[in-house]
Amino acid sequence: MRTAIGVDLGGSHVTAAVVTDDGTIHSQHEQDLEDLQFEAVVAAVASQISAAMKDAGSGVAGIGIGSPGNIDAATGAVLYSPNFGWTRAPLGEALRKKFSVPVFVGNDARCATLGEHAFGTGEGTEDFVLLTLGTGIGGGIVAGGRLLLGNRWGAGEIGHHQIRPSDGFVCGCGKIGCFEAQASGTGLIRHAFAVAPSFPRSTLLEVARDKLSSKKIRKAAQAGDKHASAAWNNFIADLAIGLANVIAFVNPEKIALGGGVSTAADFMLDAVRGPVDALTTMVPKGTTEITIARLGNNAGQVGAAAMVFRGGLTAGDAAGA
Ligand SMILES: [Zn+2]
Repeated sequence: MRTAIGVDLGGSHVTAAVVTDDGTIHSQHEQDLEDLQFEAVVAAVASQISAAMKDAGSGVAGIGIGSPGNIDAATGAVLYSPNFGWTRAPLGEALRKKFSVPVFVGNDARCATLGEHAFGTGEGTEDFVLLTLGTGIGGGIVAGGRLLLGNRWGAGEIGHHQIRPSDGFVCGCGKIGCFEAQASGTGLIRHAFAVAPSFPRSTLLEVARDKLSSKKIRKAAQAGDKHASAAWNNFIADLAIGLANVIAFVNPEKIALGGGVSTAADFMLDAVRGPVDALTTMVPKGTTEITIARLGNNAGQVGAAAMVFRGGLTAGDAAGA
């Protein structure tokens, strides 16, 4: 059995895991990131990789890193990452100098898609989409068994297709009404504020803004709270538009939803399936299953390791790690 180090690099912390080629995580090392300067992040990543390498012993096949941003998967350079404020940061090169095994870097959401496709709910499918609904919407597309990378590594930025360009929320990317602005966990919170004037007696928003979570709104909606239900219904309507668009573009066998909002699986899926069906016109209805992702927060590390087992995202056939 082969072993790789799978690294999930985020804006607030880095996790390095020892992963075998059956998709099992054997140990994990995590560190918070306080300084987001390139050199400081490289040092933190390297220290967690070293700890994982020690656990793994000899014969590690390589190191895979999933990082936010537009990543040149051939060289491992982070071309642009608003999360870190980096442009053309040579992450792969910096880590290759520190370790004697192959190092691969890919976009974090694309790595998670690879993990969920190889070892999660996408296993055995040829056409698969992962959407992680968190503070934003991350995702990726597997078509014909291959993870789509695009001409310049931009394929799969599903969160930034506009679904409400005239009346939507402002997206972090600068556009109005992106799928991510409307249908992420943050989007649900924004829907709650947007409908608040219609519910003057609601207690839903009587917490500090940074304490209000999408989970709290979802739970209140499940309990029948009117204000939360109105926000939830608007959120579901926007989620359905985006999902129907993805179906029109890709008609995958499965779309897997991950992230915090999707933990109430049945509540979400029961609500969204009908509206998605209604918006599915030319693609035969019911030919894309909408389901919940299985690997949770581990998808990024497992997928980064899967990237190693297949020799990088740019190597040959992307099917089967
Ligand atoms: Zn956007």
